[in-house]
Amino acid sequence: MNLISRRRFLRTGAAASLAPWISLRAEEPAGKPLGVALLGLGNYSTHQLGPALKKTKHARLTGIVTGSPEKIPKWREEYGIPEGNVYNYETLDRIADNKDIDIVYVVTPTGLHPEYAIRAAKAGKHVICEKPMAPTVEDCTRMINAAKDNGVTLQIGYRLHWDPFHLRLMEAMEKKEFGDWKSISAANGSRMNEFTGLNKWRTGELSVAGALYDLGVYAVQAQLYTACEKPLRVTAKHSTERKDRFTEVPETYEWTLEFADGRKADGWSSYGKSANFIRADVKEGEIEIQPAYGYGGQKGRTPDGPMDFRHVPQQVLQIDGQAQAILRNEPSKVPGEMGRRDIRVLQGIVKSAASGKPYEFGDEWD
Ligand code: NAD
Repeated sequence: MNLISRRRFLRTGAAASLAPWISLRAEEPAGKPLGVALLGLGNYSTHQLGPALKKTKHARLTGIVTGSPEKIPKWREEYGIPEGNVYNYETLDRIADNKDIDIVYVVTPTGLHPEYAIRAAKAGKHVICEKPMAPTVEDCTRMINAAKDNGVTLQIGYRLHWDPFHLRLMEAMEKKEFGDWKSISAANGSRMNEFTGLNKWRTGELSVAGALYDLGVYAVQAQLYTACEKPLRVTAKHSTERKDRFTEVPETYEWTLEFADGRKADGWSSYGKSANFIRADVKEGEIEIQPAYGYGGQKGRTPDGPMDFRHVPQQVLQIDGQAQAILRNEPSKVPGEMGRRDIRVLQGIVKSAASGKPYEFGDEWD
């Protein structure tokens, strides 16, 4: 293979199975599978995490924490969960005595993540917390400290860190494979018509900032792992077209992150309009994933042409990867500190939009 075709081979999906940074398959078990209790049995637990836990090698569903007694029989039957491994939000702290449960996976509305993650850590259980990590940076710090003080780990449910399209983007940008970036653009929006029943929290206080926290966190994250730097400041604004539906949080946020040498990353997130991409202008052309943030269906390209990866069960790989990090006592790819970094940016966006002025991050980073 000559140099150029070897370079192309390494850059395309053909190399995926050889590349150590693209781990498409969970490795062999590092020990007994860890027991996971899902806390909050809503949509994501029911349709994604529960089913994923049937396929994981290093973790299995051994418990549930729910405030809805009517859900218990179905979950117990489907996953073979003993009665003694069922908790509610009042009895949660007793989970400390349960040897079947190693990890509590917090899957409630965002505003409740800190309380439950901290209680789980105090009960001596490792914690996986869904994105976005928490309302504020201070909440994130309390969660991180609770995990440290109790000798457990805290990881965030950032499934895209196991997706081959995003891993390829991260790798290309880290290595400056196509040259340095000139500008970055990202958006994650989905037009939502109904927020009824349980879904109502998504436009209320528990969501913190609506679409920005729910969807925008992916666009911000992708911008950060594309830029491979932390931004200096952010300038943002928000807008709402459907004022009758969005009374507590804005419908749309737009932001521009600014980096040390004046380069910029633009982004937006919305419940009013749809988009789903991350794109960077790099020296040799463009690198893009679009659609980018779903559970599958990613399409990507680099200056060398289309990315050619098979789709993977993101949540299976994520939970297995997180369990392995615990079993092997290795650092997590998605620690609480990463969640806090992202919340710092999201909070900066909210503050800038509220004040109408740029928000300076200064040297607030860890
Ligand atoms: P959901 O509304 O379907 O479920 C939330 C669950 O929390 C429900 O079981 C509900 O009963 C419970 N809950 C406990 N206290 C509550 C309260 N005071 N108000 C409302 N619900 C309460 O939401 P979801 O879509 O399952 O999202 C849950 C979490 O998972 C959120 O943090 C969300 O951002 C995250 N999530 C992540 C992904 C991902 O791709 N990683 C996808 C969807 C959701």
